[in-house]
Amino acid sequence: MTKIGFIGLGNMGGPMAANLAKVGHDVTATDLSISAIDRAVDAGCQRGETVEATVSDADVVVTMLPAGKHVRSVYTDDYGVIANAKDGALFIDSSTIDVDSARAVIAAAMDKGFAMVDAPVSGGVAAASAGTLTFMTGGDADAFARAKPILEAMGKNIFHAGDAGNGQVAKIANNMLLGTTMIATCEAFNLAEKLGLDAQTFFDISSTASGQSWSMTTYCPAPGPVPAAPSNKDYQPGFAVAMMLKDMRLAQEAAHGAKAATPLGAQAEALYALMESAGKDDLDFSGVMKLIRGDL
Ligand code: NAD
Repeated sequence: MTKIGFIGLGNMGGPMAANLAKVGHDVTATDLSISAIDRAVDAGCQRGETVEATVSDADVVVTMLPAGKHVRSVYTDDYGVIANAKDGALFIDSSTIDVDSARAVIAAAMDKGFAMVDAPVSGGVAAASAGTLTFMTGGDADAFARAKPILEAMGKNIFHAGDAGNGQVAKIANNMLLGTTMIATCEAFNLAEKLGLDAQTFFDISSTASGQSWSMTTYCPAPGPVPAAPSNKDYQPGFAVAMMLKDMRLAQEAAHGAKAATPLGAQAEALYALMESAGKDDLDFSGVMKLIRGDL
């Protein structure tokens, strides 16, 4: 049993903290929202009144926050984790944030003698509840070895992606690829249909030919061929455009900093941004099919 301080009890963090408590860890949990803390207490966590009180006695601190600015503030402000944690504690940030913030916060933590990893997740609220998340972890080997048993209580696949920040790199590079292949898949189904080839026949051919991808075989954006796909539920998420767009923007920001050419990633970001402008960012990201078909 490990003493854990958990900060950020939203859609993802709430069930993750609950899973840590469920396997017997001693979890103190806090959030800006009192009702989120109440839910965590109902799920077996102790109430953390402040960040300071949540981390001061913890051997491990886990954070699950919206964006880089929240992570920077929660770790580096006077009220925050680094100023108030116990000597030798390990920090795990599972938020999806920009690579620069992840690396800066880990450097600040290590500077004060703490171990820290970035460990963003793949898998949504259902995987967080079921404890089947995939973690992509960045940080030195010792920190990863300490983090792994904690992550195993919340996830199924735990990867070490290399040095600090590399978890975020793996996450945004993967999601840029996913967001881009989804649009290409929409274009192909739309083209086939316009030329008189129905979705099922095109799927049967292309899914066993060189055009196949996860976007086609598991998540087909054309209604019909994959019954469980959001395309058969009027594109209800799933993984909403708003969340895909967040990751695509993080990828572009990182690409500019690294001078990496990502012309298709940039175009894909622009198309998801059009979905946002049209007020459709609550649709599943495969709903970009509607934009390609011209029926948004
Ligand atoms: P959320 O908005 O539901 O939860 C974030 C929580 O952080 C909120 O409860 C908020 O009150 C709390 N918070 C913000 N600032 C705080 C502070 N200073 N102190 C304490 N608490 C604070 O977000 P979420 O859906 O749980 O996502 C969390 C992270 O996980 C994001 O980075 C997101 O991109 C990533 N993610 C989400 C999903 C998903 O399906 N929801 C999937 C993969 C990754």
